[in-house]
Amino acid sequence: MAKVALITGASRGIGRATARLLGAHGWSVGVNFARDEQAAQETVRQVSQAGGSACAIRGNVADEADVIAMFDVLEGALGRIDALVNNAGIVAPAMPLADMSVTRIKQLFDINILGAYLCAREAARRMSRGRGGAGGLIVNVSSVAARHGGPNEYVDYAGSKGAMDTMTIGLAKELAREGVRVNAVRPGFIDTEIHASGGWPDRAAVLGAQTPIGRSGSADEVAEAIVWLLSDAASYVTAALLDVSGGR
Ligand code: NAP
Repeated sequence: MAKVALITGASRGIGRATARLLGAHGWSVGVNFARDEQAAQETVRQVSQAGGSACAIRGNVADEADVIAMFDVLEGALGRIDALVNNAGIVAPAMPLADMSVTRIKQLFDINILGAYLCAREAARRMSRGRGGAGGLIVNVSSVAARHGGPNEYVDYAGSKGAMDTMTIGLAKELAREGVRVNAVRPGFIDTEIHASGGWPDRAAVLGAQTPIGRSGSADEVAEAIVWLLSDAASYVTAALLDVSGGR
C-alpha cells in the first residue's frame, strides 16, 4: 500500500517539488494550499504524472479548525497518514525590526510558528503508537536564517525558523519511542516565488552567487533532502537539522 504524506503549502516552490518527488517514489500526497487552488491542482497533476496519486486540500495552517479538517480530509481521501512535511511559510518585505508593524509580526508568527506547531501537533496525535497510530515521519522546512538571524531584512522570519528548529529537537525526543522521526531541513537561497513577496524577486540568484557554492539552489534540490529524511535510508536520523544551503 502506498505511503501517504501531507505537505503544507504544496501549491508551488519547495512544497510542489517535494510532492512531485514523493510521487515518483510511489507515495500518495495531500497537497495543501491556502489560496491558489489552480496551482494546487497543477501540483496534483504533476504528482500523478510522476507516478503517484494526490489530492488538493485547502486550509490555512494558522487556523486550528482548518488544520484538523485538513488531516481528516487526507485520512478520508487517502486512507492513512505516514508523513507530514511542515512546509507552508511566508516572508514579508525586508526591513529592520524597528520599522515592523505588530500586524506583520503577528501574521508571520501565526503562519510560520503557530501553523507549524498545530500541524506537528495533529501529526503527533495521529501517528504516535501510544495513541493508536502506526508511527510516522515529520520533516519541518526551516531555514538557515535561524542561524544567521536575518538582520535588516527579516529578524521576525529568522526567529520563526529558530522556533521551528527548537520544536524539531524537542518533538523528536518526545516522539522517538512513539515510532515517529522528526527532522528539519534548513534551505539557504532557493529559487522560488517566496522572494517576490519579500520585495526582491531576484534575491536568491543575486545572493546565491555569494555563497561558497556560488549559486542559488533549486526547489528540487531541497526536495531531495526532504525525501531522503522521509525514507528508510534515514532510519536512524531524528532531531537532525540538515542544511541545504550551498555551504552558507
Ligand atoms: P513559496 O513558493 O512562496 O510557497 C509557499 C507555499 O505556502 C504556497 O504553496 C502557499 O500557498 C503556502 N502558504 C502560504 N501561507 C499559507 C497558509 N497560511 N496556510 C497554508 N499554506 C500557506 O515558498 P517556498 O520558497 O517554496 O518556501 C517553502 C518553505 O521553505 C517556507 O517555509 C520557507 O520559509 C522555507 N524556505 C524557503 C527558502 C527559499 O529561499 N525559497 C529558504 C529557506 C526556507 P498559497 O499560494 O495557496 O497561499
